[in-house]
Amino acid sequence: MSPFPSRPRFRRLSHRSFAYVLLGCTCFGTWKNAETKAHPSLAVDPKKPLQIYFIDVEGGQATLFITPSRESLLIDTGWPGNNGRDADRIGAATKEAGITKIDFVLITHFHNDHVGGAPQLAARIPVRTFIDHGDNRESTDAPTVGVWHAYQDLLKSGKYKRIVAKPGMDLPIHGIHATVISSDGDLISSALPGAGQDNPSCQNAEQYPTDQTENFRSLGTLITFGKLRILDLGDLTQDQEMKLMCPKNKLGNIDIYIVSHHGWYQSGSPAFVNGIAPRVAIMDNGAKKGGTPSAWDVLVKAPGLENLWQLHYSEEGGPKHNVAEEFIANPDGPDAANYLKLTAWEDGSFEVLNSRTHKSKKYPPR
Ligand SMILES: [Zn+2]
Repeated sequence: MSPFPSRPRFRRLSHRSFAYVLLGCTCFGTWKNAETKAHPSLAVDPKKPLQIYFIDVEGGQATLFITPSRESLLIDTGWPGNNGRDADRIGAATKEAGITKIDFVLITHFHNDHVGGAPQLAARIPVRTFIDHGDNRESTDAPTVGVWHAYQDLLKSGKYKRIVAKPGMDLPIHGIHATVISSDGDLISSALPGAGQDNPSCQNAEQYPTDQTENFRSLGTLITFGKLRILDLGDLTQDQEMKLMCPKNKLGNIDIYIVSHHGWYQSGSPAFVNGIAPRVAIMDNGAKKGGTPSAWDVLVKAPGLENLWQLHYSEEGGPKHNVAEEFIANPDGPDAANYLKLTAWEDGSFEVLNSRTHKSKKYPPR
């Protein structure tokens, strides 16, 4: 039984949120309703699914959403360098999905495994809008400063709209509700509608020091599609998780949890993972990055978890801390850039496809 009694009802874009959108844009776009009127094809058909590609970028993040109204949202762009390897992999996913542009590229934070691939991506495929948390605050880390400047150059080109996200804001994406949970170190101040219960896992929970890096500032989003609730918090750290989860659980239960921080030990605290109690978790780890055994243990013991899926076999995890091979896109051995694809319907049902095995597992509505 789910301890989360009812699904939250999401409000339409508030006047305040709308003001943030306008303030954050380098140029003004078309207002959501006007766009829907001009392009009736953007109206959502309840029978059409939401598709999510979990692209293998070797321990960075690149998660591509294609909504039923054919709008696209890419969360993060993978690494820089490697002759555009990650941009090519994202491009391959867009081709497979049949889209020729990316409407929104959301940058969770300014580390090189998240924003690093942005210039290469923008050189390969048209991007309409970038969404981010504001300024880079980690000015002493050379790789971060490098990718930050490259991203700034992109924004300065004047080719893109930009939205600076604030907690509580609804992002203007057709076909899903995307609500900002965390941004630039700030978090939603009150529980989401329907959430706010006591979290028993907070009792005697470990306390964590304040993280001083960009991870702490990750732009995190709750995506609601029909009855499904999908959570992506980038690399948000344990100290921030505790503020979201203790003593009251501000998020409620989650159906699909995009595992924070590639399953690395600095995120995924027990109070947080037990609090969101995901039905399915998908971990964007690399062979040598993420999938820390301690974090993996917390995940697989989470109440109600049906499956953990991994983009890679974790070498650090070894035989005891990896899931069965059918749930791993890239097992031990030469890298083949296999992806995982989730297809979801508004009734809460979904399936996960492993592109390596061509087999998928179906999950009925709760
Ligand atoms: Zn990362």
